[in-house]
Amino acid sequence: MDMNTIEAVVRTTDPADWRDGDAWLAGGTVLFSYGSTAFGPEPLRRLLDLGSAGWQPVTVTADGIELAATCTVAELYALPEKLAEDGTDWRGLDLIRPCCDSFVASFKVWNMSTVGGNLCTSLPAGPMISLCAGLDGTATILGPGGSRREVPVADFITGDGQNALAPGELLRSISLPASALSSRAAFRRLSLSNLGRSGVLLIGRLDGGGRFTLTVTAATKRPVQLRFASLPDAPELAGELETAIPAGLYHDDIHGLPDWRRDMTHRLAEEIRAALSLPAGAPAPASGDFWPPQPPQKTQHTQRGA
Ligand SMILES: Cc1cc2nc3c(=O)[nH]c(=O)nc-3n(C[C@H](O)[C@H](O)[C@H](O)COP(=O)(O)OP(=O)(O)OC[C@H]3O[C@@H](n4cnc5c(N)ncnc54)[C@H](O)[C@@H]3O)c2cc1C
Repeated sequence: MDMNTIEAVVRTTDPADWRDGDAWLAGGTVLFSYGSTAFGPEPLRRLLDLGSAGWQPVTVTADGIELAATCTVAELYALPEKLAEDGTDWRGLDLIRPCCDSFVASFKVWNMSTVGGNLCTSLPAGPMISLCAGLDGTATILGPGGSRREVPVADFITGDGQNALAPGELLRSISLPASALSSRAAFRRLSLSNLGRSGVLLIGRLDGGGRFTLTVTAATKRPVQLRFASLPDAPELAGELETAIPAGLYHDDIHGLPDWRRDMTHRLAEEIRAALSLPAGAPAPASGDFWPPQPPQKTQHTQRGA
């Protein structure tokens, strides 16, 4: 894609350098796909290149994991294996690979695109959004005046292609807390086609205190999180979903009609609830064993985590 309106590429990570007509450049898989006239009423004039940021991609401490915004999908995918070698047994790590696999990823996307670029693109089907929201991640944002603020990832995404960044703000990192990483987790995803973009992606977590958190992404224009003091029964879960997601919040594009996304959200939420109601380590039930019983769906592709 032509970016022939670009006059300069500036290597910087300082929001003070930002001016109108600038865009932060991370992996470039969106910027170089859509071109420099697709990001607002005015064409882009400069790219502020984060490529030389030198930020440590992943930092692991007892408090959790900090992902630099510039961490690539490939670097993230390697993390569970590295941590397993170190003896880290956070069960939430099981979510990382299914979320990475949820990209419709070419070699370029896998190796160049970044966690931060995925969050800032803010597509409903952003799998790094699903992962970071599902693990109660917090985004750290730097501002042009030297400001620094933190926003839960579930609130960072405000709509289809919309987020909480003000002009010039830079997403620096995402922190995933140990409390969420040590939870039992279950992952469900559906797409209308094999290897297609996610139409529905749900993550459920049951923490050590028995609290249940369900994060709905891809089906909805922005992440929706439901929290329960204990695992609800099926009618309670369905009722809370109905209240939390009005019809207009379901996403509508070529990757799924809103009615289908709603039905599949309810179905996968119930699968997750039922899976997490079993004792830890019990074999995962097959998809479709729960409400409503479904005939085999030849055109749908399911991936399953815990
Ligand atoms: C073949 C293909 C398949 C794809 N499949 C998917 C998919 O399944 N799901 C999906 O969500 N996306 C998909 N994408 C879109 C894209 O590749 C991803 O969203 C990717 O994660 C974007 O990351 P990036 O680092 O390349 O972003 P860039 O292209 O570098 O940037 C994207 C946007 O984010 C801004 N930005 C980047 N980093 C920061 C930062 N740290 N702070 C502030 N702003 C920032 C940029 O200014 C730009 O507006 C696909 C793209 C292609 C080409």
